Amino acid sequence: MTRIAIYPGTFDPITLGHVDVVLRGLKLVDRIVIGVAENTAKRPLFDLQTRLEMVKETFADESRIKAVAFSGLLVELAHEFGAGAILRGLRAASDFEYEFQMATMNRRLDESIETVFVMAREDYTFVSSRFIREIASMGGDVSSLVPRPVVQRLHGLRN
Ligand code: ADP
Repeated sequence: MTRIAIYPGTFDPITLGHVDVVLRGLKLVDRIVIGVAENTAKRPLFDLQTRLEMVKETFADESRIKAVAFSGLLVELAHEFGAGAILRGLRAASDFEYEFQMATMNRRLDESIETVFVMAREDYTFVSSRFIREIASMGGDVSSLVPRPVVQRLHGLRN
């Protein structure tokens, strides 16, 4: 049986912290579907299509990873792909409250889907999409913290 996990997020933009979470997740399951959430409430900097493209380009060589856009319920996306798990990453204690609420709510919606947390490498504990956006918008160099397809898009923003 193929074990599939969904890794949902806003990915505005995808960072090397996200990539590390995915690679760790691949040790636990056979395939990962990255669900790029529309998330209008967060008012993303990059539109949905661009965020999805950056994720797809990042994992272009990895056949076990697929990326899709979604706007509905996460558990519905899990059903659609036959996923038994939701993958999320934890950085610091500050992530916990929100992650706990989301995992509990998703469990309410579907008891059979397990949320699994992994911790990214220590070097990435301070990496967040928000800081990447802020630093890049002020002209800072974030090329060592994001995948190459993101570096190009961030340059594009300033030109
Ligand atoms: P969301 O809006 O759903 O929080 P994000 O794209 O910000 O979407 O994050 C998706 C998931 O990846 C979350 O579980 C978040 O905690 C995790 N994550 C993001 N950056 C890192 C990182 N540097 N290390 C570990 N986990 C991370």
